[in-house]
Amino acid sequence: MTDLSGKVALVTGASRGIGLGIAESLAKSGCRVACVATSDSSAERGAAAVREAGSEALAFAADVRESARATEIVEATLAEWGQIDVLVNNAGITRDGLLMKMSDEDVDSVIDINLKASMFYTRAVSRPMMKARGGSIINVSSIVGLMGSAGQSNYAAAKAGLLGLTRSLASEFGARGVRVNAIAPGYIQTDMTSELPEEVKAESMKAIPMRRFGDPVDIANGVLFLASDAASYVTGTTLVIDGGMSL
Ligand code: NAP
Repeated sequence: MTDLSGKVALVTGASRGIGLGIAESLAKSGCRVACVATSDSSAERGAAAVREAGSEALAFAADVRESARATEIVEATLAEWGQIDVLVNNAGITRDGLLMKMSDEDVDSVIDINLKASMFYTRAVSRPMMKARGGSIINVSSIVGLMGSAGQSNYAAAKAGLLGLTRSLASEFGARGVRVNAIAPGYIQTDMTSELPEEVKAESMKAIPMRRFGDPVDIANGVLFLASDAASYVTGTTLVIDGGMSL
């Protein structure tokens, strides 16, 4: 098991699905975890899982679109624990549809929550991480950001944008010891994918050489690697975790 004892992580979207799996795995590795989700009760769900896994937790309700709230959460975490070593920008939504029929709200909300919010949280942690001369920032993108996906142009654009952001900030922060990487999950079983029509699920399964959908822990294992010293020379990369779906 990866040892992250003594480290502090901030995870957005830590209440369910992939983010919850990430928070739990970080906690099991000894990391203290600040959990962000949309409401007190959902953020507290992530925090309870972290405590259950034997570590310490903080819970913050936030709409990740609000940049001032990102700053407040980072300051509150630093006030409590004095450091932030790992940031996981995981909160995300889909609003699928053909571009012809897509509302302004469907464009804005997907770009704002999946892409812009990651810039706000990264900006908020960048100064303390650079001062500490170390840190690992992990952006949860998607294979859709690499491949494109009909009916998901807003989401694919946001997730591709995250890859450009990752590479740019890896260059910007590298000399200060702060690493920035992305994970591109394939089809992972969560609330986000449970909404998909059965025929889409069946088609997706056919495209996965490993013939199973991923579990949040598959993504969390990638986060543990990128957060750890085992990845101390890894920056600006995208770790694809998709059972071969993008091949
Ligand atoms: P999910 O089960 O729908 O969970 C989404 C999480 O994001 C929840 O914790 C939710 O908090 C939080 N969230 C949503 N909007 C927010 C906002 N405005 N402010 C703060 N938190 C917000 O999704 P998931 O499947 O675990 O996906 C997690 C990440 O992985 C996303 O970035 C997604 O795009 C990416 N991804 C997923 C898959 C997949 O197959 N599932 C594949 C590739 C990439 P609440 O509980 O409070 O609503």
